[in-house]
Amino acid sequence: MLLTLSTTHAPATDLGYLLHKSPHKAQSFALPFGEGHVFYPEATSERCTAALLLEVDPVALVRSRKGPPGEGGALEQYVNDRPYVASSFLSVALSRIFGAAMSGRSRERPELAAQPLPLTARLSVLPCRGGEGFLRRLFEPLGYTVTATRHALDETVPEWGASRYFTVTLEGLKPLGDLLSHLYVLVPVLDDDKHYWVTEDEIDKLLRHGEGWLAAHPEREAITLRYLRHQRGLAREALDRLAAVEEAGEPEAVESARDEEEATLERRVSLDEQRREAVVAVLVEHGVTRVVDVGCGEGKLLKALLKERRFTGITGMDVSIRALERAKERLGWERLPDLQRQRLQLLHGSLVYRDKRLAGYEAATVVEVIEHLDPLRLAAFERVLFEEARPGVVVLTTPNAEFNVRFEGLAPGRFRHRDHRFEWTRAELETWARGVAGRCGYGVRFSPVGPVDAEVGAPTQMAVFTR
Ligand code: SAH
Repeated sequence: MLLTLSTTHAPATDLGYLLHKSPHKAQSFALPFGEGHVFYPEATSERCTAALLLEVDPVALVRSRKGPPGEGGALEQYVNDRPYVASSFLSVALSRIFGAAMSGRSRERPELAAQPLPLTARLSVLPCRGGEGFLRRLFEPLGYTVTATRHALDETVPEWGASRYFTVTLEGLKPLGDLLSHLYVLVPVLDDDKHYWVTEDEIDKLLRHGEGWLAAHPEREAITLRYLRHQRGLAREALDRLAAVEEAGEPEAVESARDEEEATLERRVSLDEQRREAVVAVLVEHGVTRVVDVGCGEGKLLKALLKERRFTGITGMDVSIRALERAKERLGWERLPDLQRQRLQLLHGSLVYRDKRLAGYEAATVVEVIEHLDPLRLAAFERVLFEEARPGVVVLTTPNAEFNVRFEGLAPGRFRHRDHRFEWTRAELETWARGVAGRCGYGVRFSPVGPVDAEVGAPTQMAVFTR
């Protein structure tokens, strides 16, 4: 199995930095199913090509195989196309050997990693179930020029006709990480024969590698179904999550690794806890007993609310099913005594769509959520919460962008979290919040959360709307 990746972006040998593999030597990597070799058939400043050659060992595959033999019986276990064609083995090799490049990271050339480059990928043998039409429907909407040559089943016996194997060239102007992610997802989809059984985790992988392109892809249903080995339950869940991502106009917001970044940054002031205390204090001050936490995430605030007897109706809502599942775990939902469980409700929904279930609460909390919304969706959010749901009190927190200069390790101009769409200065929050309050018949006041710096204010800002 051979994959080559070429660029003509000068100096083309920078491809080596992007792939984290030197053009000057050949390297080999042990893989669970054999070996992967990386080498450069050409490396000049005008044009550079990296080759990934996989040696899939069918005997090792049979030995490591769990479960009953496949339908083809004993012979097919040893004699099959797997060593020669691009398949899910290639995806495993891509993530093991070019993992950093696939996620868009490059130590030496970070800007180049993010930049669209003229790239050509060539797969020497790609099995395409669904034929050339399906191949094109997968790659052309992503902006590739596709060249495909179909191979005969046997050159010497023309009457046997064509095989499902193609030599495929994809050309496009893409960041390298995007191209690798497209191959990672779409090669096994074309082959439609994954070498391992897929479970829930595979949904996360699909959504992670599909971030930014899969939700809007015209073939997303076929891609999802095949990627998840035709398990309809899993595919349904993946498609629901993709739809939610599209609705929210943003990538899946709760992803532990990323949340971890923000959490580490803010840890020194244990801001998370101070934020929750500040929010709960406002609710207590206003005598609130029934509250909905919109964008509840993993349910940390819900847990704090549950500890206070005064809150008799606590609802969490989030657009991410995964976040709601984590919230259930965190709250020990399964083990909660009935009385406690009756106080608590979790809803799947988006706060940029009208939702009757949000009506009737004394208060709504919106903790570190608005900065995850596309600014163009703020008007919809305003309508849903302040015009339609109309709780008596809205407690909203968001980062104070001015404070970012005080975070060591946060580069100037960067946001605290990769999914943030914006971070506002104090003046920006005030302008927006006063506008909303004026339009919707609320009063609003502002307070800092966390240690106040004389110059830049506090790390978090809170707006409390009342009517
Ligand atoms: N309030 C939580 C989580 C903040 S992270 C806390 O303070 O820990 C932001 C959360 O907003 C994520 O869980 C994300 O899934 C959710 N979110 C983003 N867009 C949303 C939308 N349109 N509707 C509902 N929730 C949304």
